Amino acid sequence: MKERINSLRAYNEALKYIPGGVNSPVRALRSVGETPLFIRKARGTTLSDVDGRRYTDFCLSWGVFILGHNNTLVNKAVRAAISNGTSYGIPSLPETELAQLVNGLIPGMERMRFVNSGTEAVMSAIRLARGFTGRTLLVKFDGCYHGHADHLLVSAGSGVAGLGGSSSAGVPDGFVQYTVSVPFNNRAAVERVFAERGQEVAAVIVEPVPANMGVIMPDDGFLNFLREITLRHESLLIFDEVITGFRLSAGGAQQVYGIKPDLTTIGKIVGGGFPAAAFGGRAEIMSLLAPDGPVYQAGTLSGNPIAMSAGVATLRQLMENDFYQRLADKTSRFIEALKDAIKDKNMIINHTGNMFTLFFNIVEARNFADVKKTDQQRFARFFRYMLANGFYISPSQFEANFISITHKNSELYRFVRAVKTFEA
Ligand SMILES: *Cc1c(COP(=O)(O)O)cnc(C)c1O
Repeated sequence: MKERINSLRAYNEALKYIPGGVNSPVRALRSVGETPLFIRKARGTTLSDVDGRRYTDFCLSWGVFILGHNNTLVNKAVRAAISNGTSYGIPSLPETELAQLVNGLIPGMERMRFVNSGTEAVMSAIRLARGFTGRTLLVKFDGCYHGHADHLLVSAGSGVAGLGGSSSAGVPDGFVQYTVSVPFNNRAAVERVFAERGQEVAAVIVEPVPANMGVIMPDDGFLNFLREITLRHESLLIFDEVITGFRLSAGGAQQVYGIKPDLTTIGKIVGGGFPAAAFGGRAEIMSLLAPDGPVYQAGTLSGNPIAMSAGVATLRQLMENDFYQRLADKTSRFIEALKDAIKDKNMIINHTGNMFTLFFNIVEARNFADVKKTDQQRFARFFRYMLANGFYISPSQFEANFISITHKNSELYRFVRAVKTFEA
């Protein structure tokens, strides 16, 4: 194995100008006892770093690349779009084209607006929910991650979970006073909030299948329960489908579970590898946005034609050739083999189709409290072991791994073999 000399050099140079050398904290790989990789190029499932090492990618830019990296048709669409300029700050056709496609796949998004990140989508959806209901309180779930807006850094998952604290420095208490966080899959806790403060609840926001504390499955009926209790109290239900949208099915988790939230946020896959996300929902609610209504929301680069074109080219491919069936076939065999590989290892797997998390030294993971008991030292060893074997998995216990349509069966079986030999 070559040393990672160039990555180390790049890291040291980056450290001079960029805090931690990274533009998003988990990339620093600190919690797994590593230093960052610097990637030179990616294609399909393969990442190549600046030292010429190659890794089979199971993180896929945090779930963005369901078609694999460097997709030919997306690239073609992007090149064509760039030849006409890269931003206008004035409407262009790809915005409506992508909105039509999204609406066809997620009909609950009757109207939508595009933004530049999932953080922005969620922040805007919540402002809108408060504007629509005239209420202030937001109910979220421990370990769910909804981006890094101040008022959402309460018992948050993803990189926030790795900090050890429940929130972030720099967020005044006053900014989180309208956020209540309760355990996922805990109906009684939700009922208590509504019993005490139902009149104040503007919205319940949830990752319908949480993926930012590792993958956690909703108990049977839990999402229906959230739909029912929010309707009863005239609060809104927001599904944060930034990961699950176009991942669990063409219509996201709401299609899989047959539930229509009032508002939905999407991101990651919909930008085709560019910074794009969206929030949308019932026309009646969306009509409160400026310029039609009093809720302000805007963005210099929102609806950027390059990002929109990448999104269009991505979604079109998801609608063709039984995409989700093919992906499900590939994945189900892999997951079965993986289950077999870990059966004597004091590990468990949570999965839904093409995303999964392996947890260490716990017997079940139904909520954030369970997940926090996982053996993070052992996870860190596992990460380093997999990396040494040429696999880049998501570098935190509190994240999901993803499978793309470009993963070859041979790569999936090499992955299973590597898991089997871990600590053997
Ligand atoms: C990634 C993610 C976000 C934040 O999106 P960014 O584009 O990173 O701002 C919000 N919600 C969920 C569920 C996510 O997975």
